[in-house]
Amino acid sequence: MSIEALNLEIYNCKKCRLWQGAKHGVPGEGPLNAMVMIVGQNPGADEDELGRPFVGRAGKYLTKTLLEFGIKREEIFITNIVKHISPKNRKPFDDEVRACLPYLIAQIRIIKPQIIVLLGASAKETPRIDGIEYVQIIHPSAAMRFTKMGEKFREQVAGLAKRLQQN
Ligand code: SF4
Repeated sequence: MSIEALNLEIYNCKKCRLWQGAKHGVPGEGPLNAMVMIVGQNPGADEDELGRPFVGRAGKYLTKTLLEFGIKREEIFITNIVKHISPKNRKPFDDEVRACLPYLIAQIRIIKPQIIVLLGASAKETPRIDGIEYVQIIHPSAAMRFTKMGEKFREQVAGLAKRLQQN
C-alpha cells in the first residue's frame, strides 16, 4: 500500500471512537526513506487543528532539541500510536490503541526505519519488529516541565545523535 492510500484510510477511519471528537486525522509525516521514525502517543490540540504531528509546544521543543544535536526533523518520519486526538488529551484506551496499531505497523513496513524512537508511554504500545533498533526517550512535554527530566531528555537526544553518526 502507498503512504497516500494509507493516509486516506486514516482520514476516513471510524474504527474506534476517537474520530468523533477530531477535526483532522493526523497520520504523521516525513520522508519515506527516513532512517529514524519517532512515535508519540496521540495528537494534541494543535496537531488536531493542523492535521500534522508534533507542531505544538512539545513538538517545537522536540524539533529544537533534535536540531541542537544535529538531527534535522525533516529527515525523520514522525507519527503517533493513535491518529486522532483523544478527549481532553486523555491516554488512549486499550481498544483504541488496538484498533489503530495496524496503521503504525503499515507505516513501519513502508518506511522501513533502522531506528524507532519511542516517546514516553508510546514505548509500551509500539510493536517490536525484528531488525529494527528501538530507543526509548522521555516525552518532550515532560522534559519541558521538569528540570531533571529535561536534562535526561537532552542526554538521550545526544545519545541518539551519537548513534546516528555511527551509520
Ligand atoms: S484513532 Fe485510529 S483507529 Fe481510531 S478512528 Fe482514528 S485512525 Fe481510526
